[in-house]
This record gives sequence, C-alpha cells and structure tokens, in this order.
Amino acid sequence: MALSNHYPARGIHSFNKTYMSIPYTILSFILFSCHTTRFASEIEAPKHQPVKTVTNINPPKPKNVIFMIGDGMGLTQITAGMYMNGNHLEMERCTSIGLHKSYSANELVTESAAGATAFSIGMKTKNGYLGLDSAGVSHTTIMEDASKNGSATGIIVTCSIEHATPAAFYAHQKERDHFDDIIPDLLNSNLNLFIGGGKKYVDRKTKDTLSLVNQLKNKGYLVNDYHENDKTTWIIPDVKKVCYFTADGEPLPYSKGRTYLPIATKAGIDYLNKASDHGFFLMIEGSQIDWGGHANDADYLIAEVLDFDRAVKEALDFAEKDKNTLVLITADHETGGFAINSGKKFGDLSTSFTTKKHTAALIPVYAYGPGAELFSGIYENTEIYVKLKKLMDLK
Ligand code: MG
Ligand code: ZN
Repeated sequence: MALSNHYPARGIHSFNKTYMSIPYTILSFILFSCHTTRFASEIEAPKHQPVKTVTNINPPKPKNVIFMIGDGMGLTQITAGMYMNGNHLEMERCTSIGLHKSYSANELVTESAAGATAFSIGMKTKNGYLGLDSAGVSHTTIMEDASKNGSATGIIVTCSIEHATPAAFYAHQKERDHFDDIIPDLLNSNLNLFIGGGKKYVDRKTKDTLSLVNQLKNKGYLVNDYHENDKTTWIIPDVKKVCYFTADGEPLPYSKGRTYLPIATKAGIDYLNKASDHGFFLMIEGSQIDWGGHANDADYLIAEVLDFDRAVKEALDFAEKDKNTLVLITADHETGGFAINSGKKFGDLSTSFTTKKHTAALIPVYAYGPGAELFSGIYENTEIYVKLKKLMDLK
C-alpha cells in the first residue's frame, strides 16, 4: 500500500489493468507473509541472538543473592528518580551495568507474569503465565532450586504476595489473576519468608469461604499481621518460616503512608542471613512503580522509585559489609513510555507518557558484589536466570 507511492505516476498510467495486477499480487503476497510472521502466536527467535554470555567466564561466586525488581522501572523512571533526588540514587553504587531484552514468547511487549517467569525459569513464556514455559509445561523456579539446595529463601513486595511478580517465583499457573489457584502453590512453596499484602486472598477465598491461614500455620509458618507489629523497629522472630502480611488487599502507595519496604528489606536480610549456613536467595520487588506508570502519574511513579532505592541502599549496605552477597537490580519491563521533556530543571521535571500500558524498551540491569561482572552487556531477559544459576551453583 505505502509502497505503491513509489511507482512514478507516469509509469502507472502506462500499465494496463492486467499488467498492474502482477506486481500488486506479488506485493500483497509479501505484505501478507510479513503480516502473518509478525503476528504469529509465538514471536520467532531473532536471527541475531547474542552469544550466550556465561560460557567461558568463571567469576567469583556469591554466598547470597538479593534480586531486586522494580516493576515497570525503565531507564527514564530511574533517571526521573535520580533528578528528583539531588541527582543521586543508591543504585549508582553498582559496578556492572547491562541491558536485557524483555519481550515474551508471544508479544514484543511483555507483562509481569511472563517478565518474572523469564527470570525465574529462564524461558520466554506467554503473557500471563507463571512458572510455565510457552507450551504450559511447569519448570522448577530458581527460588525453588535454591530452597532445595539448602538456601534460605524469601520474597518481599509492595503488592500482594499472590501478585504476578512474586508468584512467578513459586507458582506454576496459566492465569496470573486466579489467586485461588496461586495460593495452593504458595502453601507448597517451602519458602522461609513472605512479606507483602494480600491477606484476604488467603483468609477469604473467592470460590469458597475456607480460610487458608490455618493451612499456612500448619505448614510451619508464623503468620503475622500488619496490626500486630511496630514496623519502625522490625525484628523478624527466629523461626523457620514467616509470612508477614502488610495489608489485607494491596498495600498503600508510598505517598499514602506505606513505609515498610526498606525496613522489611533490612529485617528480611538479617533474618535470612541467620536462617541457613548455605546462604540465601531473596527477591524484593518495588511493585508499584508499574502502577504509577499505568496511572500516568509521575509523582506516584517517582515516589515509588525512591522508596525502592531506599531498599536498594539496605541491600547494598549489607553486601558491602558482607562481601559475599550479589545484589542484582532490574525491572521486568518499562511502563508508560515515560519521558522527561525540555524546559525544567533538577527537582522540577516536565514529564509525559505515551501509553497507559507497558513498552518494549531495553531494561537496565545493575549488579554489585561477587559475580557482578557477568551482568554487563546486552542479553535476553532469560540470561539473567542462566547467569544466576551459574553463580549459585544450581543444576
Ligand atoms: Mg509486579
Ligand atoms: Zn504493569
């Protein structure tokens, strides 16, 4: 169609209808083929895959891994946080920076379930799938492997613990929104620590009224609640498993009074560090950066980036002292097509969004600690799993 403009007008007039139909037939065939390829149910593997980045390198191996995901945190979200924070973020302390390609198995633009599943099982999957490959086959997650290997494991999030990003590390389900199906996977996960919202989904299921809080207790969890503790001086008791609910549904935005993420990060690290001689694997999510992006609300988004960065400080402070901990900071995808426009200054940004959805932009990866050098370069999101497994000596 657009190509027809390239025919000189004179040339078109000189063709009769029969001759004209030949190039048009070829053209429409080409266009149709491109169309079917591009919108196939699975995105075809790109021809120019980067060389697998871990094969011949043997970096030092960390005892502990703190894997931090800022949901929807693209480069501009990070930039905006930095410029609104005196031109500084804690993430700048990281020594290796890379970029990952976030697309999923069936869409150039991924979402949180497929995005986190790429990290947790090392495979691109369909949007909405948790802990399954694109054919729907279940694979053990890196957190489950770490747990089997004797590491202490934990999840700390600012959404509900059943939400897509955390669930991709312990659940194996096709529907990210079917919390009733995700909760049994949570009960069977054997993780040592959960901190996040979503108590009501465990306490009052939608299908029936059966409370699963007692089942959680029967699995050995100390179930603690947001009413019961002073969260400013938070010490997690020395028991094998803890599930700490920070909200009945979704936790509040930072701007409305939620303050627990950096505090829980410090407390969670201290708890997991004591829990096993085999080190720990902790996933921390700044869940609501994404929600600020969906809302096209720059203030919401930036406040969440800065809250997440305060959790990054706790992780890096620990890693700096410990010298045996890898801190990895990345995102699943960018949200909002966020931009910083001209005309303003540090602390007073002019911003805009191109969409209320996610985008396909490359996503930064920041690493600090033993093995950090493995994360420089440009690679598929699934390579993060490959690199982590190598560093954690998991088969
Ligand atoms: Mg998320
Ligand atoms: Zn989102």
